Amino acid sequence: MPIDSCDVLIVGAGPAGSTCAWRLVKAGLDVLVIDKQAFPRDKVCAGWVTPAVFESLQFDADDYAQGRVLQPICGFRTGVIGGAAGEAHYGRAVSFGIRRCEFDDYLLRRSRARLRLGEPVRSMVREGGGWLVNDEIRTPLVIGAGGHFCPVARALRGESGRSESIVAAQEIEFRLPAGERGACRIEQDVVQFYFCPDLKGYGWCFAKGEYLNIGLGREDSHELSRHVAQFREWLEGQCGIPHDLPGKFNGHAYLLYPASRRKPVDAGVLLIGDAAGLAYPRSGEGIRPAIESALMAAEVVVEATGDYQAARLAPYVERLTKRFGGKGAQQDAASWLPRGLRQSLAAKLLATGWFARHVVIDRWFLHAQQSAVVIA
Ligand SMILES: Cc1cc2nc3c(=O)[nH]c(=O)nc-3n(C[C@H](O)[C@H](O)[C@H](O)COP(=O)(O)OP(=O)(O)OC[C@H]3O[C@@H](n4cnc5c(N)ncnc54)[C@H](O)[C@@H]3O)c2cc1C
Repeated sequence: MPIDSCDVLIVGAGPAGSTCAWRLVKAGLDVLVIDKQAFPRDKVCAGWVTPAVFESLQFDADDYAQGRVLQPICGFRTGVIGGAAGEAHYGRAVSFGIRRCEFDDYLLRRSRARLRLGEPVRSMVREGGGWLVNDEIRTPLVIGAGGHFCPVARALRGESGRSESIVAAQEIEFRLPAGERGACRIEQDVVQFYFCPDLKGYGWCFAKGEYLNIGLGREDSHELSRHVAQFREWLEGQCGIPHDLPGKFNGHAYLLYPASRRKPVDAGVLLIGDAAGLAYPRSGEGIRPAIESALMAAEVVVEATGDYQAARLAPYVERLTKRFGGKGAQQDAASWLPRGLRQSLAAKLLATGWFARHVVIDRWFLHAQQSAVVIA
């Protein structure tokens, strides 16, 4: 096999990898993106994104919406599974529903990077000042964007990471048959979030065009399938979702920031997105941190002007900390309360319109207080 070489090799073509590629190609670098899957491919995800994501991506929504689902979301319903719900309506789009099979492919093609799709990264060996990947690709810099199970993150850790505390989630996305739309009481522009009674996770349900996405994620993966089955059964009575879903729930795991102990930088290597464990701790939103970390990494790479020693890449860690807080950040303000009291208090608060809007949605889910990362 002839050796391929590039200025930067990005492993993983999800939102993190394709955003980083887009910025680096714009800066004039020869960027190669490798992914084990052929695109378009699906990704286990609800596909809910906040407007800051589009701002960071300098996204042309009209162009995107040509033949793709872009569902404006104007309201939320929140509560505890089995309990009452509070509602928040904004009268304008405050977030959007996308389908990952469309969104990821769009971002990847838009990057104009060279692509090697359907090829897993199997090996990474340090060679001189850089890397030899799969015995075929030579590069001075590897960016790990391969999600939670990223081979670059594994190579950096030198162990499996079994001790990491993960969030486990399951979801299903399907086209709702026209004949069942009348029976399904899900408003097109309202997302429903319901927390588990023990507050260790939440389930969601929302419509995106003709598609419905239902799922549940928990910090504690023990009996996840049982929690999903209970939620699904409750939604049948609550909103009339079909009894016979046309497929199985798919599962995936990922890390929440700041619990992740992954080291995002070493000589000739950077981790971005889920590979670095950056998802927001309360909502589990990972697309925005993936895109923001990709932009910050790209900026640091350009500033390093080809010298990728660990010290030249270290400003990336500083920027991550400035953006997402240091380790131990985002402590739960109510964590000092006994668990039983927290649970009964939460059930009442979550069903209150004011708390649902100003705390759960604006602060925990929309991060309305945090402006978008934009790189000129
Ligand atoms: C059920 C569920 C629901 C979610 N819902 C939301 C949501 O609504 N909104 C939100 O913001 N976040 C959500 N998230 C989190 C979000 O999906 C991730 O945070 C986001 O996809 C991270 O993007 P990424 O680019 O870092 O990684 P990914 O999107 O995981 O992309 C990684 C890529 O790397 C490739 N890859 C992996 N291993 C290799 C290898 N060995 N060689 C080559 N390529 C490899 C994969 O094929 C993949 O294409 C959800 C997560 C789950 C599990």
